[in-house]
Amino acid sequence: ARSLEPGPEGPETPIQVVLRVRPMSAAELRRGEQSVLHCSGTRTLQVRSPSLAPDPGRKSHPGDAGSLSHAPAARSFSCTVFTFGQTGSGKTYTLTGPPPQGEGVPVPPSLAGIMQRTFSWLFDRVQHLGAPVTLRASYLEIYNEQVRDLLSLGSPRPLPVRWNKTRGFYVEQLRVVEFGSLEALMELLQLGLSRRRSSAHTLNQASSRSHALLTLYISCKTAQQMPPVGPGEPPVGGKLCFVDLAGSEKVAATGSRGELMLEANSINRSLLALGHCISLLLDPQRKQSHIPFRDSKLTKLLADSLGGRGVTLMVACVSPSAQCLPETLSTLRYASRAQ
Ligand code: ADP
Ligand code: MG
Repeated sequence: ARSLEPGPEGPETPIQVVLRVRPMSAAELRRGEQSVLHCSGTRTLQVRSPSLAPDPGRKSHPGDAGSLSHAPAARSFSCTVFTFGQTGSGKTYTLTGPPPQGEGVPVPPSLAGIMQRTFSWLFDRVQHLGAPVTLRASYLEIYNEQVRDLLSLGSPRPLPVRWNKTRGFYVEQLRVVEFGSLEALMELLQLGLSRRRSSAHTLNQASSRSHALLTLYISCKTAQQMPPVGPGEPPVGGKLCFVDLAGSEKVAATGSRGELMLEANSINRSLLALGHCISLLLDPQRKQSHIPFRDSKLTKLLADSLGGRGVTLMVACVSPSAQCLPETLSTLRYASRAQ
């Protein structure tokens, strides 16, 4: 893998990349797999694998995750967090923490995911703001290039993605729910998560084959109370978007026919489209050039977050196991393209 040199830090950096190495799982240890990733310090990752000799010191430098804590949200701004990596690498865990152990058993705050932490931070901020703020949420899943509403009242059916001048790309008839408390927002998250887990296609592990997008919309009830950021800027409002991407592993070519093939194609297509858009956005020479957001539903729905005013954090998730090394290297390669 090419080394992940840290980009310049601070709010000027539109896309920050961090790496998360989960611990070895009980199953990996039971199978006697070796851990080959070693984090020496917060900025260096070493890959030590016999198969990579004589180049034992492959190093990469993930960015600094600390910047998340001052993610701006309340002023015409969008913040987007992606998790990326192969199935089982910790994407969902990173965003939402461990699943609840049972009815009424709370997850300790130290294990909370980025989403729960951000939700608490948001309510804290809103209280300090002193202005009346409207908070709304939507939660959707993209599976085989079809959008499904995870908060829909009836049984979800595929919803079309449309475009118009004022709204840009949007999902028609997507339910956007207003909420007034942290508890209500947590309930929306749990509703969406349980629908992802229990949907019919989860039977064939397909929740790992879909992208899930939870978006929070923050707007001021009285725009006068918080003026626009600058001349010609829209009034205050913010958007926070959390994206749990589909597993990035290659679906084996043998035996993947029909449905599986369709899945593999749509996943690869949207992840490739996303990687392509990100590298174009970051290439200084191509700043003014056309960004192909239209290439997939995922990139359409992230177009204004990625292309507009905003910051994006990409968390590349990897397993330390030697067995996962080929996928780990491909995740690092993808992450380094986004730097
Ligand atoms: P993915 O969403 O990438 O498929 P998951 O988030 O479901 O992966 O994680 C796979 C398994 O590893 C889960 O059992 C999860 O609880 C566990 N896991 C992931 N990351 C961590 C971590 N940082 N610490 C402890 N357990 C983790
Ligand atoms: Mg997952």
